Amino acid sequence: MHTNATSYAERLRSFMDQHIYPNEERFFRETEELGPWAVQPVVLELQAQARDAGLWNLFMPDTRFGAGLDNRAYAPLCEIMGRSHLAPEVFNCNAPDTGNMEVLARYGTPGQQQQWLMPLLRGEIRSCFAMTEPQVASSDATNIESSIVRDGDDYVINGRKWYTTGATDPRCRIAIFMGKSAPEHPDRHRQQSMVLVPMDTPGVKVLRPLPVFGFYGVPDRASEVLFENVRVPAANMLLGEGRGFEMAQGRLGPGRIHHCMRLVGLAERALERMCRRSRERVAFGKPVAEQGVTLERIAQSRILIDQARLLTLDAARVMDEQGNKAAKVQIAMIKVAAPAMACQVIDWAIQAHGGGGTGNDFGLARSYATARLLRLADGPDEVHRNQLAKLELAKYAG
Ligand SMILES: Cc1cc2nc3c(=O)[nH]c(=O)nc-3n(C[C@H](O)[C@H](O)[C@H](O)COP(=O)(O)OP(=O)(O)OC[C@H]3O[C@@H](n4cnc5c(N)ncnc54)[C@H](O)[C@@H]3O)c2cc1C
Repeated sequence: MHTNATSYAERLRSFMDQHIYPNEERFFRETEELGPWAVQPVVLELQAQARDAGLWNLFMPDTRFGAGLDNRAYAPLCEIMGRSHLAPEVFNCNAPDTGNMEVLARYGTPGQQQQWLMPLLRGEIRSCFAMTEPQVASSDATNIESSIVRDGDDYVINGRKWYTTGATDPRCRIAIFMGKSAPEHPDRHRQQSMVLVPMDTPGVKVLRPLPVFGFYGVPDRASEVLFENVRVPAANMLLGEGRGFEMAQGRLGPGRIHHCMRLVGLAERALERMCRRSRERVAFGKPVAEQGVTLERIAQSRILIDQARLLTLDAARVMDEQGNKAAKVQIAMIKVAAPAMACQVIDWAIQAHGGGGTGNDFGLARSYATARLLRLADGPDEVHRNQLAKLELAKYAG
């Protein structure tokens, strides 16, 4: 790890100890009391402190816009942030804004960057990414039906989206909308485009927040959004008509590995909790920690977490050395392995906590929801395994 990242790690850890962990209870309370349409005041307060401390936009590899760390240097930092549901947004390193900022940094025009990227980097506004649709199996992105039709100097957009993370946030000002601009194009991967849609454009309606395993807002501000005859200037097209699929792949590479880095941190924290709790509680004459089954689970958790961390770091290395596209095998592997690992470790931690593991006092239920939703978001496990198997089989073609 280079020295810059080492010092970031020390500073991050100390910020987590001083400001994040002591405020988690307040964060969850505000989330529940204010509901999914509100911003938690604790987030705004801590964001100002993180910005002042220079712990801001660490995810951004482009030095023009952020810390300029590569994936390997960012991985341990992202893991530290992943330990708490409160942390990523406090450091302006949360999904889906990071992915959207990367899209704007890579593919946006200077005008689009000025208007949308700069306020996102400053944390003044939030964004969402609207691809998944209720009517079609969206794990196959070529199924998407929303339309983007050129009309003079504008595009007219129609479609219904759901699981659009972040749309209920009152600071959410911009959507990256994926739809079809050329539904008849013979190449199914050239039919889609991505367009920037300001959320205050007439015809954009955020219909409802969606619960994730019954939780609203944290771990995810999932939302359903209707786009009805929404008119945006032609200059809002990203990169060019027909290039949506290409950008979706570019966006999801870093986005996926960041989820995995955070999950390693979340699982590490669950294991810590499992160890502490099982040492404290005595059942049938000895601490729960000394029951054979607990020892087995603790050992196995350590193995699973370290395996996932190493796979994450290897994916980060290939991304850094050969680019996101070349790392597709490693990214697909870790996108399957990390959520499965986290689900297992957190599940054992819940078991070790007894009934209390299912409640909100230990944060484990929300952690489990996070790990479980990531077996679906950014592509279901099966889709990644399919891709992996095809690439493996291709080695033996002919
Ligand atoms: C909390 C949360 C947040 C999300 N955030 C966003 C967001 O911000 N923006 C956005 O656009 N989307 C978001 N998503 C949506 C997510 O990306 C989709 O749910 C996912 O891509 C699956 O699409 P689908 O829901 O249409 O499932 P479908 O496509 O209907 O698939 C259903 C199931 O079919 C199975 N399946 C699919 N393909 C195969 C295959 N090839 N082989 C075997 N089985 C297969 C899988 O088990 C899959 O889960 C989010 C989802 C969740 C749960």
